Amino acid sequence: MAEAALRSGRDASAVRLMAVTKTVDERRVGEAIAAGVDMIGENYVQEAQRKIEAIGERIAWHMIGHLQTNKAKYAVKLFDMVHSVDSIALARELDRRSRDAGRIMGILIEVNSGGEATKSGASPEKVLPLIREAALLKNIAIRGLMTMPPWFDDPEKARPYFATLRELRDRIVGERIEDVRMEELSMGMSSDYRVAIEEGATIVRVGRGIFGERPCC
Ligand SMILES: *Cc1c(COP(=O)(O)O)cnc(C)c1O
Repeated sequence: MAEAALRSGRDASAVRLMAVTKTVDERRVGEAIAAGVDMIGENYVQEAQRKIEAIGERIAWHMIGHLQTNKAKYAVKLFDMVHSVDSIALARELDRRSRDAGRIMGILIEVNSGGEATKSGASPEKVLPLIREAALLKNIAIRGLMTMPPWFDDPEKARPYFATLRELRDRIVGERIEDVRMEELSMGMSSDYRVAIEEGATIVRVGRGIFGERPCC
């Protein structure tokens, strides 16, 4: 990670590692924390709840999987940040539940940078209108963008999608929308985190690269 940051003239401290722990049991998550991991990404509310109850809140827990609106109330109790907000309905529900809980939830807007029908995320042209609307909600705080590009064997092929996210970020910054801080670009996984860092990632989400292959299906 540090090498990729330096290659692109960035400060290594500007990029943080998230350990992605779907299917990884509490004991191994504990080992990762003992080794220095301080940010965990989970994909499913129930699975995260079990681990958070066992491990506690001494580290940051982020929701990176698709979040159904009816699970927002649990997400607000469990997570420090939600990376996967892609609709105004979900933003509103997180806002309402955060208000009930007396907190402000940091969120990232998930962008479907490859325009894939099977992937969640707002399409790039809908991101700005979504942010303008969500920025009016007082109990969520927009902190950046997240994407998961199409899968390629060659990580270089993912580069244009990461660049698209960075350019979109710069465009939104230029709009100077009140209460919107575009400080995070959550992009890059085990196979392509180096390229993502070269293109501006501030959080890379690494699962298999830390814990090995997941059991299939
Ligand atoms: C599983 C997952 C990751 C991590 O993928 P690896 O290939 O295991 O590094 C990152 N982001 C999201 C949204 C995921 O679901």
